[in-house]
Amino acid sequence: MAKEYDLVILGGGTGGYVAAIRASQLGMQVAVVENGELGGTCLHRGCIPSKAFLRSAEVFRQTKEADSYGIITKETTLNFAKVQERKESIVNTLHQGVQALMKKGKIDVFKGFGRILGPSIFSPMPGTISIEYENGDENTMIVPKNVLIATGSKPRTLPGLELDGNLVMSSGEALKMEELPSSIIIVGGGVIGIEWASMLADFGVEVTVIEYMNQILPTEDGAVAREVEKQLKKKGVTFVKQAKVLPETLKKENNVTILAEIDGNNETFKADKMLVSVGREANSANIGLDNTEILTEKGYIQTNEYYQTKESHIYAIGDVIGGMQLAHVASHEGITAVEHIANEKPLPINYGNIPSCIYSNPEAASVGLTEKQAKEKGFDIKVGKFPFKAIGKALVYGESDGFVKIIADKKNEDLLGIHMVGPHVTDMISEAGLAMVLDATPWEISGTIHPHPTLSEVMGEAALAVEGKQIHG
Ligand code: NAD
Repeated sequence: MAKEYDLVILGGGTGGYVAAIRASQLGMQVAVVENGELGGTCLHRGCIPSKAFLRSAEVFRQTKEADSYGIITKETTLNFAKVQERKESIVNTLHQGVQALMKKGKIDVFKGFGRILGPSIFSPMPGTISIEYENGDENTMIVPKNVLIATGSKPRTLPGLELDGNLVMSSGEALKMEELPSSIIIVGGGVIGIEWASMLADFGVEVTVIEYMNQILPTEDGAVAREVEKQLKKKGVTFVKQAKVLPETLKKENNVTILAEIDGNNETFKADKMLVSVGREANSANIGLDNTEILTEKGYIQTNEYYQTKESHIYAIGDVIGGMQLAHVASHEGITAVEHIANEKPLPINYGNIPSCIYSNPEAASVGLTEKQAKEKGFDIKVGKFPFKAIGKALVYGESDGFVKIIADKKNEDLLGIHMVGPHVTDMISEAGLAMVLDATPWEISGTIHPHPTLSEVMGEAALAVEGKQIHG
């Protein structure tokens, strides 16, 4: 008789595999169906490999600046093949780790494409999973008690601006480049566009970012976005904002040429390659949603706060449901969904407390509302801002641009948002996240003793600055 599963998870990315581990801890018989590799976009085409590249770019830049630290080096040259090799080795190590975790949790992994079937001879309810194999082997049928859809997302492009993986690339494709171009046009100055602009500029590539809005990183606080732009300009990145790329004008030979409309005029842009980073779209087609009552909006699966779809035994989490398309969001949603299945009564996630990070140089990180959002919501706010240049450790470290900005509610001292730009802020944002979760006030942050000398002192000073009581500024 076929093995019985409490839960089958479609997709073994960060959302899916973390949910599988939690389900196994809760005593469920679990299977993961994954068409590609365990670890998904984050491990193979996103967070991890791009951060490995960013780290190489940082070391390259810092080595070139070594004499400012009193270190004399010979000529610094880049071996991009080695950069690729290092990235692959990190990805492989982590990939092996995920596979070992699946074994440890006795989680069955099916390497195939999973599709949800409607009511059939297997079950009167939709939710039977048919697994199709690339090699043409006969499909496997599983009738689980519950299903979790964690199929993620894929890069979106502009109509007419087809990705070809070589001259016009998504970020996943760019990660496979064997050599660096000498120039690149990046369409979209969001998170991916800015991380790549920073990395490629540090590697010595001539970068032009074309952004549709009047602010790069449109979802970040305006002051942070302006600081990132200022620092990237110093590296030589060119920004063209409020510009509409005209896909029909794309010309590809040994390089790419395209027109963009700026203020009613068309301007020509030319580079060796183009990276398109204009957002992502849900992987919800072809997975059998038509065989169910599950609702979607613009391809994103609709769920309640416990990630149940309209079919209450079928859950969905991560990028495929939209919202904050971040790996740590997907994994927490996965844990919540699985705990709900197991009747553990999890608390719904408070999306206002989720930190987001941008790993460019300078790094940026935030949690909660931007100043503009807080004002739009009608809050009477007070703001404390403190620069890294007054923090001893930042000078010692050699990176003292940037600041921390804390936005609080004048009425009751509630924290509304914390925004950071500068050295190591993607690590420091967790303190801000904890402060939000614990419903702390600026007074409690400044009362938390930040050791000296550390970069984290900037948090204490920014919290004091909310009351105009900062010490070093
Ligand atoms: P994004 O939504 O962050 O940015 C897309 C950008 O493209 C926006 O600035 C938008 O205004 C611009 N844009 C849209 N249409 C355009 C057009 N026609 N011409 C010019 N610009 C245009 O999307 P992304 O950068 O592609 O990232 C995709 C997802 O992946 C995001 O949800 C992001 O949060 C996630 N991600 C996160 C991280 C991280 O956490 N560090 C890193 C990479 C990706």
